[in-house]
Amino acid sequence: MRVAELSGVGAPLSVAERPVPEPGPGEILVKVTACGMCYSEVNLLNGEYPFARFPVVPGHEITGVVAALGPGVEWPAAGTAVGTQFLYSSCGQCDYCVRGDQILCLSKKITGIGADGGYGEDFIGRAGFVTPLPDGLDPVAGAPLMCAGITAFNGLRQARIRPGTRVAVLGAGGVGAIAARFAAAMGARVAILGRSRDGEARAKALGAELYVATGDTDPAGALDPAARGREQAGGVAQERGLARAVAAHQRDALAGGERQIHPAQDRRSVAQLVPHALHPQCDRDALPTS
Ligand SMILES: [Zn+2]
Ligand SMILES: [Zn+2]
Repeated sequence: MRVAELSGVGAPLSVAERPVPEPGPGEILVKVTACGMCYSEVNLLNGEYPFARFPVVPGHEITGVVAALGPGVEWPAAGTAVGTQFLYSSCGQCDYCVRGDQILCLSKKITGIGADGGYGEDFIGRAGFVTPLPDGLDPVAGAPLMCAGITAFNGLRQARIRPGTRVAVLGAGGVGAIAARFAAAMGARVAILGRSRDGEARAKALGAELYVATGDTDPAGALDPAARGREQAGGVAQERGLARAVAAHQRDALAGGERQIHPAQDRRSVAQLVPHALHPQCDRDALPTS
C-alpha cells in the first residue's frame, strides 16, 4: 500500500510503499476513501507534539470501508463504511475514561501522531473508536466532520443552543464555517466575526444574520444592541479584543471544572447530521504516486 509519511519534525511528507498491515486483537483494517487535512498536521510538523512517534503516517479525519477484522472483533462488520478521528484509543479503565473524558486519558493515542493515520491507502483502527457512517454520505465531505465537525458540535452542545440563542463565531475557517452552519440549523441567530469586509457574502451563505468586520468595527458593541445603544447615547467603554475575552472566560471555565468531552457520542451525532447536507465544502486531491 502507498502511504504519505513523515520521518520527523520539519521533514517533508514522502510517499512510501509498505506492506498492507494485519489487524491485531481489537483492531480493524480500513480501506481509506478520504482523509481530511487539519491544522494539527502543521503543529505536528512544527514539533508541537512531544509524544509524536516517527516515522508516522499523519491524518485523523478518515472515512473508509472496513476490509478485515482482527481476532476477537465482531463489530463493525466487514464492508461497513466508517469514520475515525483524533482520539485513536484510550485505556478504557482510568478515571477519565470511565467518566467519558477519554480525550484526557494519560494512556491515549492520537491518530496520525502516536499511531499511523489516514494519509495512506489502508489504516489500522481500534474497533471501539470508529463510527459507522450513514448511507449516502459523500466520504470526502464526511471526513472533516470527524474532527472540525465534532469540535464545533461539541461546543454548541455544551452551550445548550436553543432556537433563538445568539451565537457568535470567531472566524469562519474550517471549524468556524461548520459551527456557523450547525448553529443556524439548530435555530440559533448567528453572527460571524472576521477581519475584513470581504467575508460578508460568505458569512451570509453560511447562515449568519450578522457579519462583523473586526478590522473597523467594535465587535462587542456590534454584538450587543443594548450596549451599542448606550455607546451611542453617552460613550460606554467597550471590551475590545473579544477573542481575548472569550479565551479568558474559557480558562475560568476550565479552572472551575466546567468541561465535558464525549467523543463517541459526538461523532455519532455529527455523522447523523450529514443527510441534512450539513457538511463542509471540500477540495479533493489524490494521494500522489511519488
Ligand atoms: Zn483535525
Ligand atoms: Zn484512560
